[in-house]
Amino acid sequence: MAVHPAPVTEIRTDFSLLIDGTAASAPSTLDVINPATGQVFARCPAAGRDELDRAVDGARRAFPMWRDTSYDERAHRIRDFGQSLKQHSEDLARLLTMEQGKPLSQARDEITRAATQSDGLTRIPILPQVIEDNEQRRIELQWFPLGVAGIITPWNAPINLAAGPLTSALYTGNCVVLKPSPYTPLCTLKLGEIAREHFPPGVVNVLAGGDDLGRWMTEHPGIDKIGFTGSVEAGKQVMAAAAKTLKRVTLELGGNDAAIVLDDVDPKAIAPKLFFASFVNSGQVCMAIKRIYAHERVYDSLCSALAEEARKAKVGSGLEPDTQLGPIQNREQYERVLGILEDTKRTGARILAGGDVPQTDGYFIPPTIVADIDEHSRLVREEQFGPIVPVLKFTDEEDALRRANDTRYGLSGSVWSSNPERAAALASRLEVGTAWVNHHRATSATVPFGGAKESGIGRVYSEMGLKAYLEPRVVSVLKSS
Ligand code: NAD
Repeated sequence: MAVHPAPVTEIRTDFSLLIDGTAASAPSTLDVINPATGQVFARCPAAGRDELDRAVDGARRAFPMWRDTSYDERAHRIRDFGQSLKQHSEDLARLLTMEQGKPLSQARDEITRAATQSDGLTRIPILPQVIEDNEQRRIELQWFPLGVAGIITPWNAPINLAAGPLTSALYTGNCVVLKPSPYTPLCTLKLGEIAREHFPPGVVNVLAGGDDLGRWMTEHPGIDKIGFTGSVEAGKQVMAAAAKTLKRVTLELGGNDAAIVLDDVDPKAIAPKLFFASFVNSGQVCMAIKRIYAHERVYDSLCSALAEEARKAKVGSGLEPDTQLGPIQNREQYERVLGILEDTKRTGARILAGGDVPQTDGYFIPPTIVADIDEHSRLVREEQFGPIVPVLKFTDEEDALRRANDTRYGLSGSVWSSNPERAAALASRLEVGTAWVNHHRATSATVPFGGAKESGIGRVYSEMGLKAYLEPRVVSVLKSS
């Protein structure tokens, strides 16, 4: 596999924290590494407890004013913010590629998706519901904001995964303290810089920092809700910490999505779609396909077609225009995926494409397709979150369904067939938050997304996702005393 070198690029990296409407620094800093080179290319302030306290104080002070603005006014500001994101798209995309690694075209897509989904969320009405209205009494269900939301995001899609919860919290009248992953702080700090132009002081606060900062947020008595996106392990810690103050939580966690491919598909036709849904962002997507179960009748030809896709894919620095797959985002994850690759080789599974890791300073792993692998291997059981995907054979659909469901994860899954109704019947029995037929990995502002089992609690997007930032209140009026 030939890896393109990373082109030298000039980019602004001097970002600040955003605390109570003011650009702020901190005594500590974070190094930011370009995963295509393994080199530090920027530093940014890293918030400690003092900065967190100031951000929470600012948010609490701003809350009554923000709560009392109308939905229309808040929607208006959020849409303008989305427009600004689009105007800054080129700078933001380069920054995203530099710190995250994904190809520039996918970085641009992420920004467009963030702006579009934010806009869509602000068009969902939240209305009181009349439960009963007669001569004796009127009972109404109303919704009111929780207060201050702490939003904690991972490194695989820092802009899009910030935009959804940020918009949901703000539109419903909450103030926010937003914390990105320590691996990808810059784009989120830039979001803060843009947000400063659109929201009153204290409404949006952005703090870069390590895992400790996330823990302090989950314990902070001034924060009422945590919108967390990240690993299952950290998600459990978030929930345990939140229990001390009974903070509300939305947990968007990891997945081990299965795609079940039935015996009536055209393997060549679906291979590019399956490949993209497995390997986009080098497999570092919560809802990427992580296991492919193929019927024995199509198994060999699907394996060959997927291996062909893998061999064609261009791997390299995301700044090169023809790159399709960038590096793994950070060294820890790179080493984890290498460990899974070594384990896969030890099990005697067949590597159909990829598998040989180049010696470079960047964290590159070629797209790797694995056949005939033991169901109990790490690659099948764990969330690999990298560019290595197993293809497993089945004879009986019930058996495929049982194996697809035999996991503690339950984020999403898909069934592929030339008969959509037949596939939908099987898809309806997947133990997941989203089951797709003949596609995989699609979200929108109006469709709830989230995990079953250990893949999470609650949903993002849609009215359901918005109401996760609101408390229900019943107002019951007796008309005669
Ligand atoms: P991670 O759990 O290590 O970190 C996520 C964020 O949580 C970071 O900001 C981190 O600093 C913070 N954090 C870590 N420990 C914490 C704690 N105890 N309390 C509070 N905050 C803490 O995850 P990651 O490695 O950054 O991201 C990859 C994981 O995220 C994968 O499992 C992936 O599937 C998952 N993910 C899920 C979704 C989804 O929508 N379901 C989307 C993207 C990524």
